[in-house]
Amino acid sequence: MLILIKNDTPESAIRSLVIQLSRQGIGAARADSGGRVLLTLTGQTWTLDEQRLLALPYVEDVKRLTSPWRLANRRNHPEDTVVSVGNARIGRGFCLIAGPCAVESAIQMQAVARTVKAAGAQLLRGGAYKPRTSPYAFQGYGAGALELLAETGREMGLPVVSEITDASQLPQFAQVDMLQVGARNMQNYELLRALGGQPKPVLLKRAVGATVEELLQSAEYILAGGNPNVVLCERGIRSFSQTSRAALDISAIPVLKQMTHLPVIVDPSHAAGSSELVPPLALAAVAAGADGLLIEVHDRPAAALSDAAQSLSCTAFTELAKKLARVRKALEE
Ligand code: PEP
Ligand code: MN
Repeated sequence: MLILIKNDTPESAIRSLVIQLSRQGIGAARADSGGRVLLTLTGQTWTLDEQRLLALPYVEDVKRLTSPWRLANRRNHPEDTVVSVGNARIGRGFCLIAGPCAVESAIQMQAVARTVKAAGAQLLRGGAYKPRTSPYAFQGYGAGALELLAETGREMGLPVVSEITDASQLPQFAQVDMLQVGARNMQNYELLRALGGQPKPVLLKRAVGATVEELLQSAEYILAGGNPNVVLCERGIRSFSQTSRAALDISAIPVLKQMTHLPVIVDPSHAAGSSELVPPLALAAVAAGADGLLIEVHDRPAAALSDAAQSLSCTAFTELAKKLARVRKALEE
């Protein structure tokens, strides 16, 4: 990090800044920059708040040379991180995660789990706590749904993932293999901190209004808490376009793969908003280098209690899985 000091700053002010920084374990080398003092900082500069430095009356400018997402940064960890969830290895090969938006019944879970397993999915998803835009919409069946999800996963030999919306729910997730942080909670820092302090892997979705840098900062919360098992998920961002629920940011896939060592998966379902758009978006994501996909599937999409329009039928999912395999094969050639 560089700090440019304003002209005519008293020497005592510079000295007291350098002392203050050294108390925080930061070294500051002085140089002359066209008559002004330039401080080059070394040490744990990612812990410094640029805004606080800029607010000092004698600071002209502050420039960060390294990213504040130190642990998520590929520069500090060149090899890909592989996140193990049951027998699945996210980040090594390709991982298909599928299941209904919400866990609704044993019959639904059996039918969907059987289909997705046969089609090659490695993880079963299902929501129990649904953060819905309307308070009157179906909010999920809570703890009972988590039990049903875990039971179905055990029977089918599939690890399970479900969204957690509050740290107080953690005991209910004891049988859940992976914890999803939804787009709406990407910047719920209390929740991120709590998930950093527990051992289950985390599937972190990008918020509709977040930059990739903000997504990485959110991942950093979990990593800094001591949990290295974080998978990032691009699920569409808000744009001016009204023709799909969100705009799938395909470029975020290669960009994130460059910036971080964490696995990057894509959820085409929430970006699409309608089932016909899911297959082309899924195929595009795989071609762009995604480490996996998260897809909503329902045995009776028209009767789904949430996200009915974007849920693939069991037949459509099976068809899509075959096409995905063909695209993956073509990429390997
Ligand atoms: C979900 O996965 O069902 C969900 C609510 O996703 P998102 O947080 O991306 O909207
Ligand atoms: Mn959904």
